[in-house]
Amino acid sequence: MTHAFPVYRGSMQYRCLGCEAVYSIEELHYTCPECGGVFLLEDTSFERLTETPGEMWRDVFDARAAAKRASIRGIFRFYELMAPVLEEEDVVYLGEGSTPVIEANDALAQRIGRRFAFKNDGQNPSASFKDRGMACAFSYLKRLVRENDWDQVLTVCASTGDTSAAAALYAAYVGAPLTSVVILPQGKVTPQQLAQPLGSGATVLEVPGVFDDCMKVVEHLAEHYRVALLNSKNAWRILGQESYAFEVAQWHDWKVGDLAVFVPIGNAGNITAIMSGFLKMHKLGIINDLPRFVGVQSHHADPVYRYYKEKDPTARKYEPVAVTPSVAQAAMIGNPVSFPRVKHFADQVVAIGGDDKFAVVQVSEQEIIESMLLANRHGHIADTQGGECLAGLQKAIEAGVVGEDEFAVLDATAHALKFIGFQEMYFENSFPAEYGITPKKDLSNAPRLLIDPSRKDALAPQDYYLEAATAAAELLGLEAKID
Ligand SMILES: *Cc1c(COP(=O)(O)O)cnc(C)c1O
Ligand SMILES: [Zn+2]
Repeated sequence: MTHAFPVYRGSMQYRCLGCEAVYSIEELHYTCPECGGVFLLEDTSFERLTETPGEMWRDVFDARAAAKRASIRGIFRFYELMAPVLEEEDVVYLGEGSTPVIEANDALAQRIGRRFAFKNDGQNPSASFKDRGMACAFSYLKRLVRENDWDQVLTVCASTGDTSAAAALYAAYVGAPLTSVVILPQGKVTPQQLAQPLGSGATVLEVPGVFDDCMKVVEHLAEHYRVALLNSKNAWRILGQESYAFEVAQWHDWKVGDLAVFVPIGNAGNITAIMSGFLKMHKLGIINDLPRFVGVQSHHADPVYRYYKEKDPTARKYEPVAVTPSVAQAAMIGNPVSFPRVKHFADQVVAIGGDDKFAVVQVSEQEIIESMLLANRHGHIADTQGGECLAGLQKAIEAGVVGEDEFAVLDATAHALKFIGFQEMYFENSFPAEYGITPKKDLSNAPRLLIDPSRKDALAPQDYYLEAATAAAELLGLEAKID
């Protein structure tokens, strides 16, 4: 059965989180022209959606989960909650979303002391969750192109690696009139992440410095030139990333009161989107409770942690930090653009669910990398940011932040292979001193050479295999079969 494309159309506008001014979505806006604040997108007809009971929404989304129609197969399965101003022809679908939730096996769950799962957002097309936001942002761009008959649109973004990989991929797929430029901190993205936009044919510009420097360059471009900015200032990306929340709720059969959702915080767009998504479902009665939200930051890039460390809300003070190198490199951001959005939604979460429904924990570099290695030794494909979440879960358990009966969902935001160089540094004990990581023998691994290469020429093939096999048997301590 093919499911129809949704008929509901909302009426969306940008709302500034600083001064509350609203702006039409017929133009691209990133920050408020009045006060410089960041935007959220809101559907002014949202109230109409509340006329449909939560149970019916659950049925609609469950039915669509079986749809074979590309336009509602990905993040737009939740069309009405997402960007209900797009037409079907606008929707770009590259297989993003519906990522698997993989529960930790007994051995790992026992070791950690809690049942938990990774949601593998590394199984998105460009191997990170950024595809969720790009699918939405590019669908909106297609709408703008269609309505304005534009013949040229240059998309730009600054990136810690994954935003650019995703932007370049979607731009390559959509094609003319869109072209892609990505701006990266030189030497601060992994070789895999650099290869991705290059392979997608994007123009790749490197800036010596860190992500925060690249962001300044991109902001200048967006302010003074005609370009489409694809950083998470772009509120369409936040919308698309809300799909993660919808999927988590759907996977748990819309019962989320006993879930603790762990998210690594970099520029803070992802945790913003995830909280926003759950709050929307709550408003519509699709879920009756909120999960607990736990943001995780490395001690090398922890401005959000520092802010919330102060328990008295009136005494909290936001200050950017200077970052030091982190294995959670995609989250190595000292001045998160979406910080005001985090505050906005965390306040709402706390107002509904109480003070302890939102927390931010801090973890060390050593804990991040070792949690990743531990997870992957138990069959996961967590990246370093996924490792950061598992380290965060351990911290939260120690601190009594998550209850005994809670089930933790950890965001493995990218595929392990994107950050595999950090595993290599650990195994080879080659971390530069500033990471502060000392590898442990029992977590390391290295290939072992079975037989000297010179033996290949020296021996006849049969003898060569025999010698190699004998060496293997010896090394593994194998017992011979008795015949
Ligand atoms: C972008 C990114 C993050 C950080 O997400 P924010 O939305 O910037 O907080 C974490 N992990 C990975 C793999 C990323 O690409
Ligand atoms: Zn404003």
